[in-house]
Amino acid sequence: MKIHEYQAKQILVKNKISVPRGEVASSPEEARLIAKDLGGKVVVKAQVHAGGRGKAGGIKLADSPGAAQKAAESLINTNLITFQTGPKGIPVLKVLVEEAMDIEKEVYLGIVVDGQAGGVVIMASESGGIEIEDVANKDPGSIVKILVDPLIGLQQYQVRRLSYGIKIKPSLVPTVNKFITSLYSVFVENDFSLAEINPLAITSDGRVLALDAKINLEDDALFRHNELNELRDISQEDPLEVRASSYGIQYIKLDGDVGCMVNGAGLAMATMDIILEAGAHPANFLDVGGGATEEKVAEAFRIILADSKVKHILINIFGGILRCDIAAQGIVDACKIDGNVNIPIVMLMRGTNVEEGKKILHESNLNISLVSNLKEAAIAVNSEGI
Ligand code: ADP
Ligand code: MG
Repeated sequence: MKIHEYQAKQILVKNKISVPRGEVASSPEEARLIAKDLGGKVVVKAQVHAGGRGKAGGIKLADSPGAAQKAAESLINTNLITFQTGPKGIPVLKVLVEEAMDIEKEVYLGIVVDGQAGGVVIMASESGGIEIEDVANKDPGSIVKILVDPLIGLQQYQVRRLSYGIKIKPSLVPTVNKFITSLYSVFVENDFSLAEINPLAITSDGRVLALDAKINLEDDALFRHNELNELRDISQEDPLEVRASSYGIQYIKLDGDVGCMVNGAGLAMATMDIILEAGAHPANFLDVGGGATEEKVAEAFRIILADSKVKHILINIFGGILRCDIAAQGIVDACKIDGNVNIPIVMLMRGTNVEEGKKILHESNLNISLVSNLKEAAIAVNSEGI
């Protein structure tokens, strides 16, 4: 789960990690009052679940409360489009107003769970700031990386390797070391999957502060952190993904036009491979789950139908705990609710109660091409003109 910068900074402050003074505002008037309280120059920052705001005009300097109000006015209730959002952008409902810092150096610090490496990777670079993607592409060697064994924890020699790697003044090394150690503890204690501080700023008066904070929470560990669950902001999420998650359906929107409905994550991935093999592109990942009911299957199917990009549908059901007749009935019910479904549908159905399932589909008169193995599914997908 993604959270906003202002929420991430609240977690950091609670854990005694330094961030600039600031507060979140939902209206230009509030922004003005916060700026007045802070005194002097402020930065007004669009709160969206995406990075790249600086380059997209989502971060504005203001040298008076009136200017802060104007900046907030130009951001609140607009859609911010950055290189990390789609072409439609994401709505800005709040801005963070914080004191403008006098920055001497911007460095990068990132912590991520790396499944492939089997641990937590911490990265640091002396060239932090809004050009970090360029640095990663052109000079990846300049980024220092260490792998933390989660059973042993972060070691002091690793912390030193990171802080020496970002080439800060020797007098600031202890402060940066403390920052890295504290951030790692907060990361582990709260089950983050990502914590990115870019920039970590060294100010001209020698302070070390998180000027930006991007934190992702591990969805599978959220049950351990009720207070973090409340930080969810569905205005920032894809409406179809929100709808799917309210039904416990694993759904991720993708860019292609072949909607897929599958039971089981592994089978869903194999099905997406088949679609790609056939030269087409999946419109989504969808795992309806093992113990799905007719209602859940119907809802899953309706979510696919609600995606205007979907031009073809491939259903792959391996009847086990989810019986084929339940899956078939769910699909028929969905088509009844939504009416007039004229998208070509290819379906592979095997396993428990497959004959009952086929009977339900035949009697429904829906335009579904039933196939009996994955090879046929690929051929059928092709002959549907995908
Ligand atoms: P994003 O990563 O989405 O572009 P950041 O929060 O990193 O947004 O802000 C972009 C840039 O704006 C930073 O690299 C920094 O130079 C500047 N900036 C952000 N917050 C402040 C602040 N409080 N004071 C001074 N400059 C800031
Ligand atoms: Mg940033």
